[in-house]
Amino acid sequence: MREREEHIRRILDEVRERCVKAGRRPEEVRVMAVTKLHGPEAIADAYRAGIRLFGENRLQEAASKREAFPPDAELHLIGHLQRNKARKAVELFSCIHSVDRIPLIEALEKAWGDREGRLPVLVEVNLSGEETKYGFRTEEEVAQALERLAASPALEVRGFMTMAPYTDDERVIRAVFGGLRELASRMQKAFPSLPLAELSMGMSNDYPIAIEEGSTILRLGTVLFGERAP
Ligand SMILES: *Cc1c(COP(=O)(O)O)cnc(C)c1O
Repeated sequence: MREREEHIRRILDEVRERCVKAGRRPEEVRVMAVTKLHGPEAIADAYRAGIRLFGENRLQEAASKREAFPPDAELHLIGHLQRNKARKAVELFSCIHSVDRIPLIEALEKAWGDREGRLPVLVEVNLSGEETKYGFRTEEEVAQALERLAASPALEVRGFMTMAPYTDDERVIRAVFGGLRELASRMQKAFPSLPLAELSMGMSNDYPIAIEEGSTILRLGTVLFGERAP
């Protein structure tokens, strides 16, 4: 759809403008198209608009749409992953944003086996403390996960992922995103050998704040494609 492609281009332009306004280089901030519950046409429109990074939150759905993602696009998992699906996940995704517990790290390592290289992952952090959200909740837990990952022959941790609460209160959102940036900076000091540069944060309703607070990957669905069918 020509119209949707144009719309996506406008959003990408707007993101670049916001980066500049926030004193950031636009190349530092990637836009991921979150295509869950959208079909191949949405994927194709985003691709034509220039997006090369896609995110899906459910393994089964991503597997069924696999052919729709162009070979030179990256596909990342952004949703909760069950351990018994780790094998399928390492085949399908080039990065897992939702590493939220130690047993999942172990399952992913086992699934990776003796493949070449290491699978990039992000550590999911739940800074808002909401019960409905996944992720490590305390700095101590995050440090333990990083210690485990630093010794991993199979996984390469690249940074962190979080979700802000769904609210109009900008201060709450800013505190979560700024909190993740500060946590990441402390963790980088504690683990200087780990490449912890990625901050996956910001969705359709809060990405302008995420840009200002240091996001490197914006995960955008609704703002690109419209509301998802329920
Ligand atoms: C669905 C989803 C998004 C995108 O949400 P929008 O509000 O539609 O932009 C981002 N991150 C995760 C983890 C998601 O599940």
